[in-house]
Amino acid sequence: MGSGENRETGAGAAAGASAGAGERSRAGARAGAGAGAGTDAGVRAGATGLPGAGVRAGVAGTGRPPRPDVTVVGGGLIGLVTAWRAAGAGLSVAVVDPAPGGGAASVAAGMLAPVTELHHGEEALLDLNLASARRYPDFVAELAEHAEGDVGYRACGTLAVALDADDRALLRESHLLQRQCGLAAEWLTGRECRRLEPMLAPGVRGGLRVDGDHQVDPRRLTAALLAACERAGVALVRREASALLVNGDRAVGVRLADGDQLHAAHTVLAGGSRSGRLAGLPPEVSVPVRPVKGQILRLRDLPGLPPLLGRTVRAVVRGEQVYLVPRANGELVLGATSEERGWDTSVTAGGVYQLLRDAHELLPGITELPLVETRAGLRPTTPDNGPLLGPTALPGLQLATGHHRNGVLLAPITGETLAATLTGAEPPDQARPFHAGRFTGAGAGAATGAGGPAGADRPANAGAGTGASPLARAGRSSEVSA
Ligand SMILES: Cc1cc2nc3c(=O)[nH]c(=O)nc-3n(C[C@H](O)[C@H](O)[C@H](O)COP(=O)(O)OP(=O)(O)OC[C@H]3O[C@@H](n4cnc5c(N)ncnc54)[C@H](O)[C@@H]3O)c2cc1C
Repeated sequence: MGSGENRETGAGAAAGASAGAGERSRAGARAGAGAGAGTDAGVRAGATGLPGAGVRAGVAGTGRPPRPDVTVVGGGLIGLVTAWRAAGAGLSVAVVDPAPGGGAASVAAGMLAPVTELHHGEEALLDLNLASARRYPDFVAELAEHAEGDVGYRACGTLAVALDADDRALLRESHLLQRQCGLAAEWLTGRECRRLEPMLAPGVRGGLRVDGDHQVDPRRLTAALLAACERAGVALVRREASALLVNGDRAVGVRLADGDQLHAAHTVLAGGSRSGRLAGLPPEVSVPVRPVKGQILRLRDLPGLPPLLGRTVRAVVRGEQVYLVPRANGELVLGATSEERGWDTSVTAGGVYQLLRDAHELLPGITELPLVETRAGLRPTTPDNGPLLGPTALPGLQLATGHHRNGVLLAPITGETLAATLTGAEPPDQARPFHAGRFTGAGAGAATGAGGPAGADRPANAGAGTGASPLARAGRSSEVSA
């Protein structure tokens, strides 16, 4: 079956299987467009000259933008998983991104680490992380059916180690928190650590064996999602979105950088760190996402020799996180710095030095390996480090952003959550604290259980507004429950 046929099938399914969410919303958008004519000239029905038919026809047939049920702004890992799952739920979908399949996932290590990434005050995030980690085996198996190629999922476990007394005290504290949260983590002596990973430095004083924290290759995962999206008939609009189109009281699509407009019943903002910068976001929609820079290195095992590590090893060295993620293909990922440097993505001598110095203390043999890549990427980060998921106070606009250091881990549950909120189904319980309205208005954060705002900078549009989103209040999308 060709992709055009897929697309038509999908549209038909949308009208039925999703209780007509797309059709109803589109009709609403049209009605709204009429009422609001003149507020944004291009939004009036018929004013754009864009095809209203299938997504494929819009892109391949005429070169003009499509008119889908859902437009996803951003084709990074999160935008792609959202698009794939929405298409699987029967909606017609377009992804707008000049370079889909890139973004932070092309830099990320790919640790799937709910246990070793647990921090005080992030218990709600732990529930979300665990729920997504549980979905991973089925998620990658399903993806393998829809896209060729292995995504490098390895259930290899993780060893978190300590090099000195301070590190050990910190690790003991982490262990206590993990046990309080009912997580499986076993304390090991230094000797036991080296028995598991013989190439570790003799100075390793102790560690935590966490058999449930795994890994995936984020580049392969993103490539597989891109292929799966294309097979599912998702239209890739390789352009920049310059502004959200709002007509009356609802979002009706986006304006593209070249002036074209892409209308849709639902717009999902998945622009990573840049999500809050899209022009046209009204004051009642708060997208307090900022970039947190991470520098990361890739090394390669020596040919003919066994790999230095069998599992992910991580540590806090002099207060700085360092981790080593060994891939089955011989790649060894060494990460990562965490820096508040705005939009800077330069790799610095200091960053590379710090990572190599700390890794060398853990694993002296690392200096023998070829260094094959140095990169820096931006983690899309919210004030409480949790993602923003689902409907906003503006009907027609949903968020899938702010995944910070867990975007790869959270891909499965993010796709599932957005597919639910876009079709009027129930999202997973663990996603509710991360509703998109939690930073809007009084009491934001406290009502979520997601940990309070951490005092981080907020973009200009943050803070004002109308309170919790419909996802939090009613557990479902405003578009379909109203
Ligand atoms: C060094 C580092 C290590 C990491 N390690 C891990 C890890 O081990 N495990 C883990 O789970 N996570 C990890 N992460 C985090 C993870 O990579 C991110 O959370 C995730 O990739 C974010 O994906 P995203 O799609 O939301 O954003 P992005 O990857 O930033 O993608 C956003 C996309 O939106 C597009 N876009 C933005 N604005 C517009 C616009 N106006 N119009 C059109 N397109 C637009 C961009 O071009 C981009 O392609 C790491 C991140 C870094 C930087």
